[in-house]
Amino acid sequence: MLLFSNVAFFFKEIEKRSGRLEMTDQLANLFKQTDVNEIDKLVYIIQGILAPPYEGIDLGMGERFALAAIAASSGYPSNEVEKNYKKSGDLGDTAEELLGKKKQTALSTTEMEISYLFDALMKIAKSSGPGSQDQKIKILTELLNNSSGLESRYVIRYVTGSLRLGVGDPTILDALSVAHVGDKSLREPLERAYNTCSDLGYVAKVFYTNPKKIESFVVTPFKPLMPALAERENAPEAIIERLGKCGIEMKYDGFRLQCHRKGDRVELYSRKLEKMTNMFPDVVEAIRELKVAEIIFEGEALAFDSKKGRYFPFQQTMHRRRKHGIEDASKEFPLNVFVFDVLYIDGRDMTEQPYEKRRDIIEKTFKNKILQPSQMTLVSKTNELEKIFQNSISQGLEGIMAKDLTAPYTAGKRKFAWIKLKKSYGKSVDTIDAVVVGYYLGQGARAEFEFGGLLVAVYNPDRGKFETVARIGSGFSEDEMRNLQEILNDIKTKKPPVKLDFSVEKPDFWVTPKYVVEVAFDDITQSSMHTCGAKDGKGYALRFPRLVKLREDKGVEEITTTEEVVRMYELQHSRK
Ligand code: ATP
Repeated sequence: MLLFSNVAFFFKEIEKRSGRLEMTDQLANLFKQTDVNEIDKLVYIIQGILAPPYEGIDLGMGERFALAAIAASSGYPSNEVEKNYKKSGDLGDTAEELLGKKKQTALSTTEMEISYLFDALMKIAKSSGPGSQDQKIKILTELLNNSSGLESRYVIRYVTGSLRLGVGDPTILDALSVAHVGDKSLREPLERAYNTCSDLGYVAKVFYTNPKKIESFVVTPFKPLMPALAERENAPEAIIERLGKCGIEMKYDGFRLQCHRKGDRVELYSRKLEKMTNMFPDVVEAIRELKVAEIIFEGEALAFDSKKGRYFPFQQTMHRRRKHGIEDASKEFPLNVFVFDVLYIDGRDMTEQPYEKRRDIIEKTFKNKILQPSQMTLVSKTNELEKIFQNSISQGLEGIMAKDLTAPYTAGKRKFAWIKLKKSYGKSVDTIDAVVVGYYLGQGARAEFEFGGLLVAVYNPDRGKFETVARIGSGFSEDEMRNLQEILNDIKTKKPPVKLDFSVEKPDFWVTPKYVVEVAFDDITQSSMHTCGAKDGKGYALRFPRLVKLREDKGVEEITTTEEVVRMYELQHSRK
């Protein structure tokens, strides 16, 4: 039985140290004290969630509720709690201080087990409808009554979504292995299992129930796989050199959908693996018409403009990602899904099969109006590839995707099994996806909007850190500036993000890394202003960065990595 006080102590310890190795050992110790009925709950709590994202279970508790619960539990009036919060800048610290010197002693204090805490948090998340707000505050107050000062620090940070521990998924995977066999040798099968179901709590539970099962983990409908990702090249020659004979597909510029069906049940997941089923009744219907009992496949959804006889640009297609007016939107922007992979069919896990075989199934299975195979041509010569590429651009598409015919589906990994060649090839413009870590105030004409640009970072999974790569000062429309100012204002923090490595460049306001933006640039240079891939004080930076758009379909875990930036830098030199 694991007590939350042990977990809180662990949180406190790792806040002081940030070395991966030390963190792994401490976490492994905690895992050793955890039993099979608790391990999934503990893993979710460390991840700062209650369930995998596709379950759509969100604590949804604003600071206002947390303030009310702190007041109720500590006996301090709300205005004093607020005053303390203004001073501390961290509601968790305020809870710790005020509850630590409780004016009102709680009627009973019991040591909280991790399961008790988790179940109470789940109750908070699930209560809805009239009276639910009072109910949420009541449950949280009870939790605080049973918490020590230190425990309440983390309970409050957790419910307000500001538990920024910096324990990444790789550390959790390592620690599970270390707890079980004393070293990291099981990290790889654990990671593969995680990539296959995107549910780390579930993987941990299976592992605790029967470690052998991890080695033969298979795909299951309604547990979405982490999407396979594409590497990049900047010339047709490089692709042929690497893959030889390969499949060249159109690269459609819409949004990615992962579709699952078992019997009558159908679910659709976004690239971030959020459930999108309700948004696309037309796609759901088309999937029900397929002559299969079970299937998991992936495709790119695009809206077709029948008046112009071509596909709508990305921004128009995105009108289909909405919660209201779904019926009208489906008429105005009818979707096509171009299927580019199949991962499971009628009880068979296809992920280990070569692409060639998966492609056969795609061509046999998808023949209806909405669902159709992505266009693919087999090529083995550079000039054939170049021709298809030019053809795709003239159709208003984004470029091509080259597929290795022999490769398995590598969930969650960026591999040369897929290689993208984009419109930007041959020109000196490319884009990355970066997370906003801070923003600047405007000067001169822009002071009116109080917005002067963004500091953005990429992710370095080896270090578990975000590393800054650009200060973006242009590309914003007035509307975008207003919108960014508004959403960023809500997530301002006094201190820089814990997981951020920054150097000279400091914004006027730091923000919680949450929003992903696509950034265009001319070149990558080396600079001491940024920390991306930094060695001896010199990192990589984008030259002439400008905002393309906010990428609401991408999560923070999915942004461009340091390694990719370095690769782009190298590609740029080979081009020159
Ligand atoms: P990434 O997905 O590699 O992180 P990204 O989201 O910026 O990067 P791109 O680099 O433009 O996207 O290309 C990858 C995306 O292209 C896929 O995630 C998928 O949504 C889309 N795509 C379009 N057509 C295809 C296709 N034929 N095969 C695979 N993916 C395709």
